Amino acid sequence: MRVKVKIICQECGERFILSGKKEQGKIETGFKQCLCDNQQHFEIEEHYF
Ligand SMILES: [Zn+2]
Repeated sequence: MRVKVKIICQECGERFILSGKKEQGKIETGFKQCLCDNQQHFEIEEHYF
């Protein structure tokens, strides 16, 4: 299943729009970290199409 993911960094507010795929309940986008080095604190919105 393809999914578009909006990731908002909770530390600096940067937003990223990525497309990925969802397999077995886990979203795979390849996203690793924000530009500010934050790797854990994100707000994530999933959009299916
Ligand atoms: Zn950030």
